Amino acid sequence: MNIDWKNLPFGYFKTDYNVRCYYKNGKWGKIEVSSSEYFSIHIAATALHYGQEAFEGLKAFRGIDGKIRIFRWDENAKRMNRSADGVLMQPIPSELFKEAMLTVIKLNEKYIPPFGTGASLYLRPLLIGSGPEVGVKPAKEYMFMIFVGPVGPYFKEGFNPVTIQIVRDFDRAAPLGTGTIKVGGNYAASLKASERAHDEGFASVLFLDAKEKIFIDECGPANFFAIKGNKYITPKSNSILPSITNMSLIDLAKDMGMEVERRQIAVDELAEFDEVGACGTAAVITPIKKILDRDSTKVFEFCKDGKAGPLSTKLYKRLQGIQYGEVEDKFGWNLIL
Ligand SMILES: *Cc1c(COP(=O)(O)O)cnc(C)c1O
Repeated sequence: MNIDWKNLPFGYFKTDYNVRCYYKNGKWGKIEVSSSEYFSIHIAATALHYGQEAFEGLKAFRGIDGKIRIFRWDENAKRMNRSADGVLMQPIPSELFKEAMLTVIKLNEKYIPPFGTGASLYLRPLLIGSGPEVGVKPAKEYMFMIFVGPVGPYFKEGFNPVTIQIVRDFDRAAPLGTGTIKVGGNYAASLKASERAHDEGFASVLFLDAKEKIFIDECGPANFFAIKGNKYITPKSNSILPSITNMSLIDLAKDMGMEVERRQIAVDELAEFDEVGACGTAAVITPIKKILDRDSTKVFEFCKDGKAGPLSTKLYKRLQGIQYGEVEDKFGWNLIL
């Protein structure tokens, strides 16, 4: 095994094993270990036709002490069940989620990147409607699986500021739609805007509220936050996904003596912010240096010296420090193996 840990992309990486579990006849079966990257699926599975599926993303880290740390897995397990409820799938008992997760991590332990490389092991739980239906209704059978793989930073720039684009001709999710749950359909809906933004030279898209196009919603597949003086401000909206990273940054900001506001943020307010960024498991924090409005061609600039702002940097370091076991985990976020 010869892995260039320091230059890993955020992408699929084949490892030795994955785990699967099937819900049939009204109950979950035993966890099965597989070394295949494939599974066979019924041609009429609801996941394929009607998008009855949900996924999660979380990370395991090799700490400074050599121990494995899994960050806030219980929050991912809870959110997966909220997603399951949102598209009428069978929930996964927390103990089943945990056992599947520990099994797949232990079987692939050699793929956990060494401490100091900035990389981590990404876990991808997936829940799909696997039973056949042709009429639109929930399946009677489900499949839960987790695969893992070592990953580097999500944005190839790492903790370097990126440029993003405000769009109005696409919505990611409707106000009373599925924006608050982690289902694949939201991602399918964001692909066109996101690929166009990449083609036009931007790292990501900033979606606005679908109804009025006044307020900031989400930054591609990540939550948005801003810093103004000693305040951490993040959007309140009924179409964004409650990010566990954002929730953690809010706790850290409060702990650092910052004020926290969760409220609607108008696009025009961008001109008043000192720092802005996107946050999520994949990238932790991605500082934003420039936001271009695709329609008005208005430009908002941050990080005038080209570097991430001081408070974003402090929050990023503290969160990563906790994840790698370098900083006291006073909130008890890590499950240490
Ligand atoms: C997963 C996801 C996030 C980030 O959530 P984390 O729990 O921090 O990883 C943000 N926005 C969307 C749309 C997501 O799917």
